[in-house]
Amino acid sequence: MSQRPIYLDAHATTPVDQRVLDAMLPYFTESFGNPATNTHVYGWEASAAVKNAREVIASIINATPEEIVFTSGATEANNLAIKGVAEAYFNQGKHIITVVTEHRAVLDPCAYLETLGFEVTYLTVTSDGLLDLQQLEKAIREDTILVSVMAANNEIGVLQPLAEIGAICHSRGVLFHTDAAQAIAKVPLDVAGMHIDLMSLTAHKIYGPKGIGVLYVRRRDPRVKLASQIQGGGQERGRRSGTLYTPQIVGFAKALEIGVESMESESERMLQLKKQLWSMFEPLEGIYLNGNFDNSLHNNLNISIEGVNGSALLLGLQSIVAVSSGSACSSESTAPSHVLTALGRSEKLAHASLRFGIGRFNTTEEIKIAGEIAIATINSLRQANN
Ligand SMILES: *Cc1c(COP(=O)(O)O)cnc(C)c1O
Repeated sequence: MSQRPIYLDAHATTPVDQRVLDAMLPYFTESFGNPATNTHVYGWEASAAVKNAREVIASIINATPEEIVFTSGATEANNLAIKGVAEAYFNQGKHIITVVTEHRAVLDPCAYLETLGFEVTYLTVTSDGLLDLQQLEKAIREDTILVSVMAANNEIGVLQPLAEIGAICHSRGVLFHTDAAQAIAKVPLDVAGMHIDLMSLTAHKIYGPKGIGVLYVRRRDPRVKLASQIQGGGQERGRRSGTLYTPQIVGFAKALEIGVESMESESERMLQLKKQLWSMFEPLEGIYLNGNFDNSLHNNLNISIEGVNGSALLLGLQSIVAVSSGSACSSESTAPSHVLTALGRSEKLAHASLRFGIGRFNTTEEIKIAGEIAIATINSLRQANN
């Protein structure tokens, strides 16, 4: 087999860490029981594994085990948080606040609720992707029930000021949800200290398996009411029915444990790689950084490139470097990224952009090659255009 491209798309997904896979394997074939079964040892083993994983995850985010609801991923967690709160609180108000740069898994449930008579305010961001806290304060009304702001952006890596947002929400008696799919195990997250009421997580962005996520749901000060979106066997205290997926749950906890243990050292290493990559692009003409270099994930670098065609750029790179561009991730759509256009980028510059997602297994050498290939491709496309 020919050499595979260098993987620099860690915001899309990550490979499963071998240690995570090893932890999961016994729960497929040996301790395969249904965690809800309490009549025999197969069920007890699975139930103990889920209990342990729930405790590990809860303690890492400073929550209690009862506040953890397992879902199929962050998409489902976002849907459960937003629709679940809307359905449980609609008699108190029908107004929700979110941000234009959110993931589709937040924007689309909000748009759906608008068709049911809810009103949604979409806050804009500054040119580097940050939320304006005064704008948020002004947007909160008597009938506002929920504010949903992501922790770290999946395209430009920008980190929103969660603790400040949480403090504003709590002082106004509004629930605060955050989609932390990209932020978990990259930056410290503390649901108590940051006044977070609901938080969505997923395992596959942190070297865990796909198909498993968590919604954290606060149980006191305030106790969040949530209307379940999937009814059935009453698992997860009725908040999300369906047989618990033991191997994935075990894998999620293991991935989170490893991620948090190595967070500080990895964060420093990522920053060095990000600086290395940016130092290659920075001297070139017509290259723009998207987002905010300092206030963003250390494993993210997103740039727009003048004078090239976005799809030609990706085509030129794809056999050597696996990255994403500034077009909507769904393959059927060629719309420019709604995040980049929200920053004020033109459609053309939004298309002609590259998102580098640096991961645990990338090396200095790989970054060097990726940068060199990208620059060579940019130069040759620019020459062809002249
Ligand atoms: C990946 C991602 C999601 C979707 O998570 P899944 O677990 O794949 O459903 C949601 N929000 C953000 C910010 C993401 O990066």
